[in-house]
Amino acid sequence: MTEKPASVRATRITALRDTQVRPATAPAASAAPQVRPTTEGWTQQKDDEGRPLLQFASPKRGKPPVHLADLTPDERVEKVKELGLPGFRAKQLATHYFTHYTSDPAEMTDLPAAQREEFVAGMLPPLLTEVRRLETDRGDTIKFLWRLHDGALVESVLMRYPGRITLCVSSQAGCGMNCPFCATGQAGLTRNMSTAEIIEQIVRANRLIADGGLGGKKADDHSMERVSNIVFMGMGEPLANYKRVMDAVRVMVAPQPQGLGMSARGITVSTVGLVPAIRKLADEDIPVTFALSLHAPDDELRDELIPVNSRWKVDEALDAARGYFEKTGRRVSIEYALIKDMNDHAWRADLLADKLNARGRGWVHVNPIPLNPTPGSIWTASEKPVQDEFVRRLNDAGIPTTLRDTRGKEIDGACGQLVATTEDEAAAAAMA
Ligand code: SAH
Repeated sequence: MTEKPASVRATRITALRDTQVRPATAPAASAAPQVRPTTEGWTQQKDDEGRPLLQFASPKRGKPPVHLADLTPDERVEKVKELGLPGFRAKQLATHYFTHYTSDPAEMTDLPAAQREEFVAGMLPPLLTEVRRLETDRGDTIKFLWRLHDGALVESVLMRYPGRITLCVSSQAGCGMNCPFCATGQAGLTRNMSTAEIIEQIVRANRLIADGGLGGKKADDHSMERVSNIVFMGMGEPLANYKRVMDAVRVMVAPQPQGLGMSARGITVSTVGLVPAIRKLADEDIPVTFALSLHAPDDELRDELIPVNSRWKVDEALDAARGYFEKTGRRVSIEYALIKDMNDHAWRADLLADKLNARGRGWVHVNPIPLNPTPGSIWTASEKPVQDEFVRRLNDAGIPTTLRDTRGKEIDGACGQLVATTEDEAAAAAMA
């Protein structure tokens, strides 16, 4: 499911009208107008027939160098032997990388001095160069801008919460899903990230934390000082880079020293709704938390907000999400960016509740989030009373619903704001 033939790269999103019978409180009766999805300052990429472009296949670019984190423990031993050292060195190296978060040969005094530099360069080649780091005043949120070996730029966002530390990671440079309200989606897909490029974001964050670089720790917080939670909500559509993302998840949950020893439950995979890949994920037997970016309960609107809805409709995506719950027993999350006068109508809250309840009870919760501003967009977040009403209606219908915070907004590090700006490009070019 990772790569699709060119024929599905662009699919019709406009022709289908919503055939749904709406509840009595539907739009005609609603006072709130609906703003059409138009933006200023940028135009959505479209194909020859005017349909938003979907890019599933990663453009071909030079592959990043193979790294320890790309390999299984057996493959690591093989590679070490190829480099002329005995196999047991692989585990030593993994210990340095996954428990001390270092790739620096100078810190690896247990390795033979003579070949150390060359050996480490062969096994732990540099993958991410830090271009820039932005942090909030309290220092509890840090956004990293990384340059990959071929100049592609990606970001990750590190956030401290009471009792946990969350890293929002990127899985692709750019994104091919073309969602008009998301800054990443507007830039198109540069390429898939490798497994080790995904892992290295965590290792680098862990190193910074170990060195005391993440602020905001409360005196009574005795939780472990390392990344405890991962959300695949940075740049990219994780399920469009399926194999590398799943290999990365396997490395995250593998016990130390062969992996990061994280709990699968603390890892959230978020998707626009690539249905066959959701089914595959359910069969993996790794109980990660699953999140579906729904943003509209009706196809008419979702076709416009999430162009991939032209391939997999609201009901199919919800059925797949329910299937995930049935297979794994893990409650799934529905993400819903509240956009003023766009998708925040009371009748849409009711319709969402109906659709979720129709698939059973206790299997899902909803996480609305006020829209974060993106460059050029005319859309804004819903007003507070409208947000509250949306949440209230879902809760009253028996769907646990909590408004998500918009951490990192002031450093453009919040959901949907991750994009390489011309300033970023310039900073990266200056370093190259
Ligand atoms: N491609 C994946 C993961 C990346 S986006 C996905 O779409 O799920 C992570 C979350 O941020 C998604 O729910 C996405 O819809 C949401 N998001 C995107 N742009 C946003 C914005 N401007 N404001 C709030 N949330 C946004």
